[in-house]
Amino acid sequence: MDSKMQVFINEVQRKNPGEEEFLQAVQEVVETVWDFYRENPRYQKAKILERMVEPERVIMFRVPWVDDKGEVQVNRGFRVEFNSAIGPYKGGIRFHSSVSLSSLKFLGFEQTFKNSLTSLPMGGGKGGSDFNPRGKSDGEVMRFCQAFISELFRHIGPDTDVPAGDIGVGAREIGYMFGMYKKLRNQFTGVFTGKGREFGGSVIRPEATGYGAIYFVREMLALKGESLAGKTIAVSGFGNVAWGAVSKAVELGAKVVTISGPDGYIYDPNGISGEKIDYMLMLRNSNNDVVQPYAEQFGVSFFAGKKPWEQKVDIAIPCAIQNELNETDVKTLIKNGCQLIAEASNMGCTADAAILATEKITFAPGKAVNAGGVAVSGLEMSQNSMRLSWTREEVDEKLKHIMINIHNTCVKYGKTPDGKINYMKGANIGGFVKVAEAMMAQGIV
Ligand code: GLU
Repeated sequence: MDSKMQVFINEVQRKNPGEEEFLQAVQEVVETVWDFYRENPRYQKAKILERMVEPERVIMFRVPWVDDKGEVQVNRGFRVEFNSAIGPYKGGIRFHSSVSLSSLKFLGFEQTFKNSLTSLPMGGGKGGSDFNPRGKSDGEVMRFCQAFISELFRHIGPDTDVPAGDIGVGAREIGYMFGMYKKLRNQFTGVFTGKGREFGGSVIRPEATGYGAIYFVREMLALKGESLAGKTIAVSGFGNVAWGAVSKAVELGAKVVTISGPDGYIYDPNGISGEKIDYMLMLRNSNNDVVQPYAEQFGVSFFAGKKPWEQKVDIAIPCAIQNELNETDVKTLIKNGCQLIAEASNMGCTADAAILATEKITFAPGKAVNAGGVAVSGLEMSQNSMRLSWTREEVDEKLKHIMINIHNTCVKYGKTPDGKINYMKGANIGGFVKVAEAMMAQGIV
C-alpha cells in the first residue's frame, strides 16, 4: 500500500475511533480512487479527499415518545448531512436497531458517490434512529415518526435536505413524517421522497431500487454476451428492495429461488413468481420480520438461522443490509458455479468478500447497483418542482436510461488492462469526479 495512502487512512481511523462501518466504506473508496487522486495534484492541493471524508454536519437528537402502555420511550435520532456540493443533501432514513453514528456516516458517505453516479443534482445524506419497528402498533409508529420530525424539521427542506425511506421506513412512515413536517412548517413542499401517490409521490418509486438493480445486472450480463433469461438467482431480504428485484428478474426470464429474513431463508426450487411475489408484500406488511411463513404457505424448505449463499445459483443479489455476505460465502458461491454478485443492499459484502468477488468472478457495488431508488427520488423531486406527474412509462424509461449510464461510467473508469471491469473502482472514481469538480469550483467551504 502507498505510504501516503496509509497515512491518510490512519488519520481517518484516528479521527473516527470505533466507527467500523464508516472506516470500511472510506477505506474502499480511498484505495480505489488513490491513483487517480495522485494524478491530479490540484485535487490534492485543495485537500478534496480530506474534505470528502468529513461530513459537512451531523445532527444527533433525543426522540422521546409514549408507547401504547403509556410508558415513555427514548430513542436516538440522527441526520448526517454529508456533502452538498452537487445538490441538496439527499438520502434515506433508516429505523433499525443497528442504527448508530457509524452506520449512518458510512451510508451518508456512500450516498454522496451514489447520488453523483445518477447524474442528477443531489448531494449525500442519511438519517435514522435505533427505533425498532418490529411488533410496534400503527399508533406507536405514528407517534414515533412525529416525535422524530418534531426535531428534524428545522434541519431539512426541499432545497436543503430531502430525506426518503430506507430499512424500516416505507410509505407509511414517510406519510407520517411528511404530515408532521407540513403541520410544523405550514408548507406543502417536496421535502420527502417516497411519498404516497396522492400527495406528490412518483410512480415506480417503491419498485425503483429493485428494478434498477436488475437493469444494472442486465447490462453487466450483456457486456459478456449473456442475458437474464434462464439464470438462477439467490436474493436475500424480503423487503422493498428484494421485492422489486424479484419482480423484475422474473419478468426478464430469470428464476429467483431464495429470499431471507432475520429468522433464516426459504429455498423455492420452482422460483418465486406470481402470487408468491404478492405474498412477499403481505409478509413485509405483517411487521413480524420473518420469512418462515412463506415455507409453510407454499410447501418449500426453510433453513433457520442460515443465509441463502449456500445454494447453487448463477447470480447472488444481497438485498438486506450491510456486510450480509462474507468471504466464506463468496467461496461457497464460487464453488457452486456462481458468476456474478451484485449488491442491492448498501455495502452488502464485507471488504474481503468484495475484493475476492472482484478478483475471481464479477462484482458490482451497491452505490452503482442500487442507485435506481434514489434516482427515482430525484425524478420525484423534479416532478414536485414542476408540479406535475409523469406516467409509469416515462419514469421507467428514465430509470433504465440512468442505470445504463451508471453502467457506462463504471466501464469507463473501471476497465482493467486485461479487459475485465472493476466495477468497484469504476463506481468510486465515476462518483468521485463529479463531486470533486463541484467542490473545486465552489472554493474552500
Ligand atoms: N435509501 C435509499 C438508498 O439507500 C434511497 C434514498 C433516497 O431515495 O433518497 O439509496
